[in-house]
Amino acid sequence: MKIETLAIHAGNHGDPTTGAVVSPLILSTTFERAKDGNLVEGRDIYTRASNPNRRALEEKLAALEGGSEAVAFASGQAATMSIFHSLGGNSHVILPDDIYYNTKVIIDNLYANFGLTCTAVDMTDLGAIKRAVKKNTKLIWIETPSNPSLKITDIQAVVKIAKSKNIMVACDNTWATPFFTRPFDLGVDVVMHSTTKYFGGHSDILGGCVILPPNDSQNNLATKIRTFQSVGGGVPSPFDCWLLSRSLSTYAVRMPVHAQNAMKLAIFLEAQPQIEKVNYPGLKSNEYHKVAKKQMQGADGVPCFGGMMSILVKGGQKEAMSLASKLKIFKHATSLGGVESLIEHRFSVEGIHSTSPENLLRISVGIESIDDLIADFKQAFQ
Ligand SMILES: *Cc1c(COP(=O)(O)O)cnc(C)c1O
Repeated sequence: MKIETLAIHAGNHGDPTTGAVVSPLILSTTFERAKDGNLVEGRDIYTRASNPNRRALEEKLAALEGGSEAVAFASGQAATMSIFHSLGGNSHVILPDDIYYNTKVIIDNLYANFGLTCTAVDMTDLGAIKRAVKKNTKLIWIETPSNPSLKITDIQAVVKIAKSKNIMVACDNTWATPFFTRPFDLGVDVVMHSTTKYFGGHSDILGGCVILPPNDSQNNLATKIRTFQSVGGGVPSPFDCWLLSRSLSTYAVRMPVHAQNAMKLAIFLEAQPQIEKVNYPGLKSNEYHKVAKKQMQGADGVPCFGGMMSILVKGGQKEAMSLASKLKIFKHATSLGGVESLIEHRFSVEGIHSTSPENLLRISVGIESIDDLIADFKQAFQ
């Protein structure tokens, strides 16, 4: 089945007792056993360990990404943690120099006392990845397009390096989502998402997931991730799972609109004298366009580049902040992937260790009318 159909039907088994077409929300934390005290086959025991709404959501997420199994978490960060945790102490991770800020903070801060270390490299430079490999390198973490500079990593090329050295490859697929990039088809071992973003799509559910590959390429990784979820307890509530399943029904109609709007906005912004550079892989002028064309497609197989971009405003932080403040439809707020357009000055939110340029604004292009979005920038430039 295709992604549009899976988004609606995967994991939705309705309710056999009432005939409800949509699965009901089951809030109970505990489930009754048989009269003899034994477990009832197929029935849950306790909601942290498993529950019907989470199972339904996980089935849908696995189907969308083309994985064998999905493990849902209370946030993207909890999902990322489960992968780092599975590596064990004294492991080394190679990750991108342009990356979702808090991914690296997990290693540098939370796991510092467990001997987990990392090296940040420019993942578009394959030589830099090879040079960063150490004896204890267990994982290469890919994020493409990267945050906030929209660098595109050649997933297949990184997988090739990793395979030759027996290193696992994880991909944070939050920005592209399986609608535009399919990491498992390119040889990646495990996929992570912040479902808070495009999967949720309405800026009202926090969540994350880890998706295991169609074949068990990393022995027992599924068991480790599942244990981190059910014993560690960083689980989403049944309501969040139900709500996310609901949001995912319209995922496949939202994504192409995000991408079409972003493409048009990028072309418009590139032509404005107030803008120094537009980071959007769909632009022919973009340094990553060739790699992006190879690995980013829409559901119809035509190259398509997602709804995220960033712009460098001529001048510095002051000029960037001023532009953001003049926009009326674009809200100045963090996060991304919702139906509404957002703009954010990353440098000022990331703090003193930020590597984001001071004149950079990150834009999450929503699904409003593109005419209105462009008109909003026009009035802001005046
Ligand atoms: C938001 C985000 C995360 C973190 O997810 P949370 O749901 O906020 O915990 C990780 N990676 C990327 C690329 C993100 O955009």
